[in-house]
Order: sequence, then structure tokens, then C-alpha cells
Amino acid sequence: MITIERGIEMVLALASSNARPDRMPVESVPLTECMHRILREDIVADSDSPRFDKAIRDGFAVRSEDLSVIPAELRIIGESRAGQSAGDDARVTASTCCEIMTGAALPAGANAVVMVEHTERLAPTRVRILRSSHEGEGLLRQGAEAREGDCLLKSGKRIQLADIGTLASVGKAQVAVSRRPQVAILATGDELVEVRETPDASRIRNSNSYTLYAQVRDAGAEPMMLGIASDTLPDLREKIRRGLESDILLVSGGVSMGKYDHVEEIFAEFGVTVLFDQVAMKPGKPTVFGHRGETFVFGLPGNPVSTMVAFDVFVRPLILRLLKAEDVHPRILEAKLEAPAKRDAARTAVVPAVVRFESGCYKIRTAPWKGSSDLAGLSRANSLIVVPQGEGAIEAGDWAQFLPLD
Ligand code: AMP
Ligand code: MG
Repeated sequence: MITIERGIEMVLALASSNARPDRMPVESVPLTECMHRILREDIVADSDSPRFDKAIRDGFAVRSEDLSVIPAELRIIGESRAGQSAGDDARVTASTCCEIMTGAALPAGANAVVMVEHTERLAPTRVRILRSSHEGEGLLRQGAEAREGDCLLKSGKRIQLADIGTLASVGKAQVAVSRRPQVAILATGDELVEVRETPDASRIRNSNSYTLYAQVRDAGAEPMMLGIASDTLPDLREKIRRGLESDILLVSGGVSMGKYDHVEEIFAEFGVTVLFDQVAMKPGKPTVFGHRGETFVFGLPGNPVSTMVAFDVFVRPLILRLLKAEDVHPRILEAKLEAPAKRDAARTAVVPAVVRFESGCYKIRTAPWKGSSDLAGLSRANSLIVVPQGEGAIEAGDWAQFLPLD
């Protein structure tokens, strides 16, 4: 049995060594389609930003030295509007000012913008300024945000909302991102029926294929459904053979100690090299990881919560590493524990929990649930507390690590 940390290391090491450099080629996608994809080019500013000294207030462009005595009356010499370059005629000289709008270029001679709220219009060409101003107030100097040639986004970044705006601002209508790896999903079990069917008393609906499908998508890969295999060797063999043609194969169920758990046997038949098949994790102990050639293979324990957790812990980092993402590790946060959480002596436990913000801090408590098949219980939670293996408990008031579920 290996620790979770060791398991993640092994998965990532294999992803780095097993994959040819061109394993996940670059593809070009429209800007509208690139949210959450992994960027594969450095994005460089194509000009200074802003391109000119720019007003960030509506008001009057002034010489701050004219406002040493307040109120001050100034003559308005013209206006500078967004989208028009300030003409040479609009030069601000002693005791004059220029009307200006947010986003417009600062006229020559001015060194500050006074907000319109701090002025009083006396006549079409006269204004009273009610507050003093210092040089640089109400404006952004050319290049203050970025200089032409600056690197704004690095290859390997997962594209987030602000990056979409940045890409647009530097003229990237098409963006180079990693191609999505294909992930085959196979559910196993004689007791499973499809979602549209009504199970008889001895059966249940296949839910794992759908949670895995969503997780694969969310991680940035392309899911492919292989349906349900029965717990018989010929059916498993046939469907696993198909799955081995993908970049990654996920098999759920059939990896425990039961008489009809044949998945590892079929992996062996196909020559899959297994790197681990027991993890000190609760739930998720019988998680299997290996590869055949360039295909990565997982056997995920069938219990719905186990499957989801094992995916987040091991499969998601693998997908992100294949995509050449710079940040591949699960996102772990901390909150104050509201009631003690018991440790398991042998395994790190992952426990459904509710985290909420109260009195200036995040607080977390375990959610009532009935074990690793309790999907309804998991739906009432919004996070998973990570309780490291060991003796005793994490006490109320201690910091506990958790994985957000959405
Ligand atoms: P197994 O790992 O095959 O022993 O399955 C463990 C438990 O998970 C059993 O109660 C199965 O019925 C359940 N299970 C396995 N696969 C699925 C699935 N695709 N959807 C929902 N439950 C499943
Ligand atoms: Mg089974």
C-alpha cells in the first residue's frame, strides 16, 4: 500500500517520462472557445498599455500647479474625447484646462485630471475647480500597465476569465492551446443498468460513467463513453481492448477482492504494467494505476464516492500534466474545524463536509453520510475534508485541509 502523495508522484513521473514530447500537440482555437484550456504560447503585449497618457475620470485636464489656490477659475480651451487623438491645438497652458472623458488622451501641457464632481461649470468656456490635485491624479501614464514586448501570459497557464480579456486586448482572435487527450470511460458490474432504464430490485443505475464524464470534461480532456461491461471475462476483454486505444482508460468497479472482480486479470492479459493497486486512502483503497505503451490505465473502485475522489486525486493531475499545465496539483484550502474529525490509523480519510463563511472566516464540519456509496449524502456536501492518517482526531478549532467540490 502506498501513500496518496507517493501515488500522485508516480502518476506524474510516468506522465512526464512516458509521453513523447509531441504527445499533446498544439491546436488553434477561436478566442470564444478557449476558456479553461491550457495556453501553449507566450502572450506578449503588442503595444504599450495604455498606448498614451489616458484619463481614468470624466472631468478636466489641468496643470496641477494652477490649483495651488482653491477654488480656481480656468478657461476651457476644448475637449478631448475617447477614440480621438488630442490635437496639437488642445494645449493646456497657465490658467486653462481641457474638458476630458474617461479613456481619452491627456492633452499636451496637462498633468492631472480633476473629476467633474469636483467642478462647477460657470459658462461654456469657464469652470471653477473646487479641489486641488497633484501631478498624475486621474490618469494612467503610457505603459503603466504593460510595455510593448512584455510577456503577459505564460505558456502552460490554464486560461481564466481575465486572460480572455487580455488575449482580446492584444489581438489574439485565435489562441494556441493543448489538444484535449481522449479519455475512455468504462463502467463494470452485472448489477448496472443505463440511466434511462428502470432497475429491478437487484440492480442500480450506472452513475459513475456520468460523474467521470463530467470530471474528464472539467479537467480539460475529451470523454468517450464505452458503456457498461458485465463481470464476465469476454465482455470485459472486448471493452477494455477498445479503451486501450485512447490516451487514458478509466475503468470503474471490478478492482476489489470480490470473486467477480476481474479487471486486474484482464489488464494483465493485455500486458498492462501496474505501478500501484493499493493506496492508503479512505475511500479509494483499491485504486489501480498502470500503463500499456502510451496509454494510461486506471482501475477506479466502484463505489460512487470512491470513484470521484480517486479521479480528483490521481486522474486530474495526470490530465493536466499531459496538457502541459504548469499547475497540476489538487487545489487544497484550509478552514476551521467546527467539530472533531476522527483520524484513521492506516489511511488518509477524505470526508464529505460543509464549508461556509461565518464571522470573517471559513468554517467546516463533516456532513452526515452513510459511506462511500452515499451519493445523496455527497450532494448535501460542498467539500471534502482531508483527514491525515494517524491516531486520535483533529480537534474543533484546528485548521483542516479541504478540497472544494465545485
Ligand atoms: P465494485 O468496485 O465493482 O466492487 O463496486 C463497489 C460498489 O460500487 C458496488 O456496490 C457497486 O454496485 C457500485 N458500483 C460499481 N460501479 C458503479 C457504477 N458505474 N455506478 C454506480 N455504482 C456502481
Ligand atoms: Mg463490481
